[in-house]
Amino acid sequence: MQLNLRKLRSVSKKEGKDIIARGLKLNEEAGELSAEILKYKGHKGSDKTKQEILKDLQEEAIDTLIMALDILVYTGAKEKQIAKVMDKKLDKWLKNLRKRNATPEYIRLK
Ligand SMILES: [Mg+2]
Repeated sequence: MQLNLRKLRSVSKKEGKDIIARGLKLNEEAGELSAEILKYKGHKGSDKTKQEILKDLQEEAIDTLIMALDILVYTGAKEKQIAKVMDKKLDKWLKNLRKRNATPEYIRLK
């Protein structure tokens, strides 16, 4: 995934909200994502098909990603810095997965 934050930076600058409001919005989106995950796994009722719920789930994940990126942009993080830290954290995650010999969840979802 190539990070191009130009458009996000432009939209974020137009937003007048402070870091607290942005953090709350991130949590609101994460809550909406959690609700879609519960629907997808059948722990919360819905009239939608599994495919429709999956589409909604993915859109809420994108909303959550946008709000997390908004906070990074708002606090002055640059693309190169974000990519470098992400890479480091993904390496750490991978190391932990190897330690516990995990089975990929995305395979189980299908
Ligand atoms: Mg949303």
